Amino acid sequence: MALRLSFDGGAGKVTGSNFLIEGDRGKVLIDCGIEQGADFSRAHVYGPFPYDVKTINALVVTHAHLDHVGRIPKLVKDGFRGKIYMTPPTCDLAELILYDSVGILSEEANTHGRAPLYEKEDVDRAFSLVEALDYHVEKEVAPGLSVYLRNTGHILGSASVRIKDEAGVAIALTGDIGNSPSPLLPDWEPVSDADAIVMESVYGDRLHPAQQRRVELLRDTLAKAITRGGTILIPAFSLERTQLMLYELSNFFEAGDLPKIPVFLDSPLAIRVTEVYEKWGLKYFKPAAEDEMKREGSIFEFPFLKQTRSYEESIAIEETPNPKMIIAGAGMSHGGRIGHWEARYLPDPTTTLFIVGYQAPGTPGRRMMEGASSVRLVNSEIKIKAKVEKLEGWSAHADRDELLKFAEASLTDKRVKTIFTALGEPLAERFLAQRIHDYLGARAIVPEVDQTWEITKDSAKRV
Ligand SMILES: [Zn+2]
Repeated sequence: MALRLSFDGGAGKVTGSNFLIEGDRGKVLIDCGIEQGADFSRAHVYGPFPYDVKTINALVVTHAHLDHVGRIPKLVKDGFRGKIYMTPPTCDLAELILYDSVGILSEEANTHGRAPLYEKEDVDRAFSLVEALDYHVEKEVAPGLSVYLRNTGHILGSASVRIKDEAGVAIALTGDIGNSPSPLLPDWEPVSDADAIVMESVYGDRLHPAQQRRVELLRDTLAKAITRGGTILIPAFSLERTQLMLYELSNFFEAGDLPKIPVFLDSPLAIRVTEVYEKWGLKYFKPAAEDEMKREGSIFEFPFLKQTRSYEESIAIEETPNPKMIIAGAGMSHGGRIGHWEARYLPDPTTTLFIVGYQAPGTPGRRMMEGASSVRLVNSEIKIKAKVEKLEGWSAHADRDELLKFAEASLTDKRVKTIFTALGEPLAERFLAQRIHDYLGARAIVPEVDQTWEITKDSAKRV
């Protein structure tokens, strides 16, 4: 008995997660993400899936980031009719993220003069197939194939998926692994009950500063930026990063660590995501954060935080005198309201731009992080006179030592024989594989996209 594992996306790349697992009688997809930072005319995003979507029995989703869910509506549009499984918080978050992406995709399509990747009706259809599956429940999702989800501490609802056939051959796919300990989420759980693991390696070759240090650095850099008197811009992913920022800001202001300045959460999506965090916090946060919620009610709000939902509220932010802070998406400055504010404020030398997350190659965020003197935003070339502050450690991803710890913890039962390092840039994947081999003595493989591997209880070999 064997399982076949195909890397249809997410090998040699951080984004575009898409793996196919085939047993003797059933086929299951893990994630159906979109490649980000990609030119939207690329065949890989718009082209057909490399498998017959009509023959797939089920899709299991690790978490609600677009690079893990972004092509689900296309999958359904192309004929997929199986069930889609995800944790209850992921159901809510994926719904917000996918309906939000409809507008972005239609804008992209107009720019490139082509049909959008999918439309609202496709998202409606996709959600008619969704079924919530909680952590730690074994569930048969396809003939002869069962799955089991564990927490990965990456974002609210994030899960690793262990998939097992009738003979007990099992593969675990981690999705993204969290930067544990998080102030909000429980730590990741290892996956030792599989014959092979596909693990993420975004930061496979880099270290984050310690959690305590990152909070101090954020506080001190914010204090300096406030003293400079300009606008503070924080492009932040709506999901998790924004909630972490709000949580820390609320702590700073409550403790009197920063002068009180107006803070705008200028993102309808981030506002709604924060509501989902509030909804599920008491069930899925770590105990300390749950206690804080029970004591304080909201742990993301503070008195001079203004949430701007409508367009009118958003443009009125300009009337508020400096210093002020604007948190908005997109996280890599590749769209959303932040682009408007960057175009308005980056030419001003009193502005401070905070970079708090991974910036994919080719995005405006990556160019600004690398020190470009100008950047193309909202269809014009914008001079950058602002101070750009790059703050490390805010990633929702484990760093290289944490990834190694995850691998080590998963190897303790001596069952896992092969670890594939995926979902990273090629250098990071190779670096992590080398360290797993050198430090833990395990077989580590850097897979390539479109490869298929056969996994048995004793071996993993390419087919
Ligand atoms: Zn993710």
